[in-house]
Amino acid sequence: MRRWLLCVWMFTMPDDVQFSPANAMALQAGSARERDVAIAIRGLTKTYPGGVNAVRNIDLDILQGEMLAIMGKSGSGKSTLLNLIGSLDKPEAGSVEYHGVDLRRVVNLPKFRREEIGFVFQLHYLLPHLTLLDNVALPLFGQAQARARASSALAEVGLAHREHHVPGAVSGGERQRAAIARAIVNQPRVLLADEPTGNVDSVTEEVLLKLFESLRAKHGMTLVVVTHEPTVAARADRIVHIKDGQIERIESKGNPTAA
Ligand code: ADP
Ligand code: MG
Repeated sequence: MRRWLLCVWMFTMPDDVQFSPANAMALQAGSARERDVAIAIRGLTKTYPGGVNAVRNIDLDILQGEMLAIMGKSGSGKSTLLNLIGSLDKPEAGSVEYHGVDLRRVVNLPKFRREEIGFVFQLHYLLPHLTLLDNVALPLFGQAQARARASSALAEVGLAHREHHVPGAVSGGERQRAAIARAIVNQPRVLLADEPTGNVDSVTEEVLLKLFESLRAKHGMTLVVVTHEPTVAARADRIVHIKDGQIERIESKGNPTAA
């Protein structure tokens, strides 16, 4: 229930403060190193009330355009880490920078999040009474061309023929594809996914993986995917193994390790 409310909040949050021009400029500027590193994480730490050290002093550079998988046992801190990276949760210590912009300095975080980051969860969190088109248009808040942009996002995930269906009238795989369309409708540079194939069969998993790969190839998106599935992790450039809130090791497919 909390997750549902969080999602509705995320996709409907109005802008109440202006986006800082300094941040916008820093996003466009940036040194060569900052252009290579999409997300720089330093000393990231989160302790929940009750004393659970869910994320402990994590340092990690996520490279522009890479697919990074995060693996680890249940309770190891993967979702907490992803939520901190996505600014859905606040760390007690440490920082997350997007292309040189420290999240702590962003004035309008909901706007930044909506424009820079797409989120996909294990459950689709589509609103049941809205058509897929209206669900995907939701993050655009009635902007001009919202429906046209939602329509093209749905076409991109192969659901042009399902626009006017409600979530209950399409398959589980199609619902997850619609959730991906909603995540990319604002053309974010980063897509964060928490067990996106956790609820689907292996055929649908392959469809979703191909879709992620094509989004990456077409738009140069940076993908961070929390997964339990070795079949999903095998498609990543690097696999970060998390244990007890810390990076245990990083597997790389020949690319330089940046942790
Ligand atoms: P994973 O996604 O790897 O299963 P989580 O990040 O969900 O792990 O959880 C990491 C640890 O933090 C677990 O011990 C979990 O019980 C605890 N935890 C997660 N969310 C909360 C919360 N809201 N309040 C208190 N403890 C939490
Ligand atoms: Mg989790």
